[in-house]
Amino acid sequence: MKEANERKETELLRDTYIEIDLSKLEKNVKMIKEMVGGKVVLTAVIKANGYGHGALQIAKPIMEAGADYLAVATLTEALELRGQYADYPILIMGHTPNRLLHHIAEKHLTQTIFSFEQAEILNALGEAQHEQVKVHLKVDTGFHRLGKMPSAEYREEIKKICALPYIDAEGIFSHLALVNEEENEKQYHMFTEFLDTLAEEGCSFRYCHIADSIACVDYPQYRMNMVRPGALLYGMRGYHKGFLPVEQCLSFKTAVSQLHEIEAGEGVSYDFLWKADRKSLIATLPFGYADGYPRNLRDKGYVIINGQKAPIVGVICMDQCMADVTDIEGVCCGSEAIIYGDGTDGSMTIDEASKLSGTNKNDILARLTARPPRIYR
Ligand SMILES: *Cc1c(COP(=O)(O)O)cnc(C)c1O
Repeated sequence: MKEANERKETELLRDTYIEIDLSKLEKNVKMIKEMVGGKVVLTAVIKANGYGHGALQIAKPIMEAGADYLAVATLTEALELRGQYADYPILIMGHTPNRLLHHIAEKHLTQTIFSFEQAEILNALGEAQHEQVKVHLKVDTGFHRLGKMPSAEYREEIKKICALPYIDAEGIFSHLALVNEEENEKQYHMFTEFLDTLAEEGCSFRYCHIADSIACVDYPQYRMNMVRPGALLYGMRGYHKGFLPVEQCLSFKTAVSQLHEIEAGEGVSYDFLWKADRKSLIATLPFGYADGYPRNLRDKGYVIINGQKAPIVGVICMDQCMADVTDIEGVCCGSEAIIYGDGTDGSMTIDEASKLSGTNKNDILARLTARPPRIYR
């Protein structure tokens, strides 16, 4: 009886699933670590459920492959990770409202802050539990998202924060808008100048960082002593000047659920926006936009069945879509269909999906929902 129950837990309850190649992921991490060298701390960004890869499942292999720190965007993401991993250092890069800051102290998380007000709250929480709370200070160098612009006032505020006994201001960081080289240089210069003045005034930090995936490949001089790649970990080659042969480690697969022989002139899916111009064989596939597939890939997307391209036809529904398999031999119910792959088999890569749907690679990954089960190999 017990055996049957155990088997059930690993049973795949859907034909549509996301497969993560952990050996590729680990290779990517090692490659990045090697590129930046031993003196640069590697903070692996695993926000948005690890860019769709499953943050809880990939955290351990990523840390074991050489990452030093984990970073997420929100408190919820940090708490989920902390629930499973008691000891990993976890940086929250987003803002946490005052009323929730007690979680930071209680769960030994590292919080991004940019005000004395938040530092005071965290300091009091630290004092109550007799230990320092770790923070990274955010400096706005022009992106205008989070942090304050360098100024004498902000310097004074930072000095006051650093002087709080129960605050460990271990890091300070900024973020590049990646407009062009000139703008990047301006931002970087603004940041380092601010750091220099702070240092002259007796305030220095263990970790200074500004580089995301693209910057840490394209601008080695911006690596400082910590980098924060996300996309690069997952094999996304977003860089322009540099090169690192990271590989996509995610694929997305399904299986044909039904076949329909239709006559020329018949429509498929909502509003009959696609109509057959010949007698056609249409395959129903059990994935849709609620799994994170871009709805605007109608008439652009395709899957690979039996090694051949099957174009998606008609409106993509929430849970299903249809593909034209008229020209593909031997398609039957249960035939495997590759939705996203590494491209070697003709499959659509994340990069191609992003171009076809008019967005970026991170968006394609981040929109993959929790619904398709993840398989780790
Ligand atoms: C998401 C994020 C990153 C990682 O971005 P990638 O482009 O995926 O490397 C780095 N830093 C901050 C502040 C972020 O929000």
